[in-house]
Amino acid sequence: MKKKIVIIGAGLSGLYLGYRLKKEGFLVRILEANARIGGRIFTKNVHHTHVELGATWLWKYNEELLKLCRELNITLFEQDMHGDALFEATSANAVQRFQLPQNQEISYRIAGGTRVLLDQLAIGFSKEELLLNQKVQQINTTESGVEVLTENIAFTADLVVSTLPPKVLVHSVAFSPALDANLIQVAKHTHTWMKDSIKFTLVYKRAFWKEKGLSGVGFSNVGPFTEMYDHSDLEHKHFALMGFLHGALAKETKAYREEKVREQLFKFFGQDGSNYLSYEEKNWSEEPLVTTADSGFLSPHENNGHPIYQKAYLKDRFFIAGSETSPSYGGYMEGAIYRGNQIVAQIKRGFE
Ligand SMILES: Cc1cc2nc3c(=O)[nH]c(=O)nc-3n(C[C@H](O)[C@H](O)[C@H](O)COP(=O)(O)OP(=O)(O)OC[C@H]3O[C@@H](n4cnc5c(N)ncnc54)[C@H](O)[C@@H]3O)c2cc1C
Repeated sequence: MKKKIVIIGAGLSGLYLGYRLKKEGFLVRILEANARIGGRIFTKNVHHTHVELGATWLWKYNEELLKLCRELNITLFEQDMHGDALFEATSANAVQRFQLPQNQEISYRIAGGTRVLLDQLAIGFSKEELLLNQKVQQINTTESGVEVLTENIAFTADLVVSTLPPKVLVHSVAFSPALDANLIQVAKHTHTWMKDSIKFTLVYKRAFWKEKGLSGVGFSNVGPFTEMYDHSDLEHKHFALMGFLHGALAKETKAYREEKVREQLFKFFGQDGSNYLSYEEKNWSEEPLVTTADSGFLSPHENNGHPIYQKAYLKDRFFIAGSETSPSYGGYMEGAIYRGNQIVAQIKRGFE
């Protein structure tokens, strides 16, 4: 009989695990709390283009992720950095123009948006295999397996894999019997990458910055945006900028942040800058499926890939995946895939 595996979360980790485990002959069911797939990958369609409010870049050393992109025929293109950059040192001074160093690490983007990677992974799942709006609340270990409870459905499985950021897992899911106390302690102190970031995008009619010999790259000590990049599409048909806002603005309203960004754009680019077609933003610190109410400080990547995540729990029926549990590039998309490969190997070994 085919073994049943419930995967919690339909971010990159959950979808990749479902894709791989289904190919290995397991019966998979992916439960996602949100009304959309993707988790911290969030590509939005705006004015006929795709803007990234979550993960955007990959790099040539992301070996497992690049292998997957080749397998799924995904087209990559270089982040456009051509032209001068701008720097705002203080609010009193004019914005300075400077040349970016030539030997910078190249970042790559996915043509059509990072969402394309998710869609390719999800393409083969039926409605029974991938369920949205199913927030897992409780996990019970029974004589014969595991029971996973959402608000109104109980799912049974031989094995369960969580892909939630570990801190979110131990804050939002109850276990009976309880999870290992050491594991809970480490999970509570495992940093979730980018959980506090505020990302914004602007779509324009023309890439006016290119007409001025600018790359679209901007840095600021003042804010509200601290860094910004060109975000136009591969075909150079749609034009956009994308960047990050200062974390101190997290408690302000969207309208207030947008107004401050508009003022800063005017300082950087004049009227062209403030004449955008759309402003989009995502304040990740307000996303309960990524971050938790507990505000204790953790260093970036603290406890990512901790050895405690390598073990199986609940009588070898429960595995903890997700990018933050990866010993390689924990927190990044590469980590999600690297860890997914580890878990698949571990599960297969258990049935040999
Ligand atoms: C703004 C931002 C920019 C980033 N930029 C980059 C980048 O350029 N390059 C890069 O490599 N990485 C980047 N990252 C990190 C990257 O997004 C993550 O490494 C990756 O998406 C993690 O995938 P995951 O599936 O492990 O976790 P997640 O994406 O967090 O997925 C977990 C899923 O579980 C769901 N969930 C939560 N609780 C429950 C529950 N109780 N029941 C059911 N489902 C639940 C969530 O809704 C989510 O869909 C960025 C992240 C952010 C936020």
